[in-house]
Amino acid sequence: MDPVELRLRRDLIDTCRSFGPERLSQGTSGNASVRWRDGLLITPSAMAYRVMTPADIVWIGFDGSRAGARPSSEWRFHQRILRDRPDTQAVVHVHSPSATALACLRIPIPAFHYMVAVAGGDSIRCAPYELFGTERLADAVIEALRDRTAALLANHGQVALGADLDAALRLAVEVETLAEQYLLARSIGEPALLDAAQMAEVADRFVHYRAGTLD
Ligand code: 13P
Ligand code: ZN
Repeated sequence: MDPVELRLRRDLIDTCRSFGPERLSQGTSGNASVRWRDGLLITPSAMAYRVMTPADIVWIGFDGSRAGARPSSEWRFHQRILRDRPDTQAVVHVHSPSATALACLRIPIPAFHYMVAVAGGDSIRCAPYELFGTERLADAVIEALRDRTAALLANHGQVALGADLDAALRLAVEVETLAEQYLLARSIGEPALLDAAQMAEVADRFVHYRAGTLD
């Protein structure tokens, strides 16, 4: 096997094995994918991460072709995201507790904290409920991710995108943290929200923060 492909398969497994310690998902919930050769490598369905091997990872082409046994039931939204968003290299989907709690209440995350801008805008939307593993869910996820790199999925969990697997995982952790902070703040009141101009300022400052050119 191509050594780069083998590395990516191992990275996918490592990513999923960190879901537990990062408190992002439990059991076989959640999945991950990474762009590879006009398609994507994706974790298998319903398999415990601790027993997963590189041979269990499935490749799905953007044309629908497939190499491997049983891709994640959510291959449709992973495929659509990576096909339609060339800037995205990796996708992580988890049922993290606080993000899922908000998603069950169908409450999006507004600009209650400046870090909401890490997902690309002044809110993290909540996609309407659709049955897991369906094209309808893929449609809802794509729409909720418009101009964003993360979204909540009603009565389900969250999805986070990245320039590589590590970035997608870190964003999922950030979304979970924001959800937890938002729930905590809302438990005793209504948080003050930042306005559009304040969030635009944050987005601008993030560019320098990431480039290491802050004044
Ligand atoms: P898979 O085991 O098929 O990836 O499904 C887990 C999940 O989170 C479905 O939404
Ligand atoms: Zn799920």
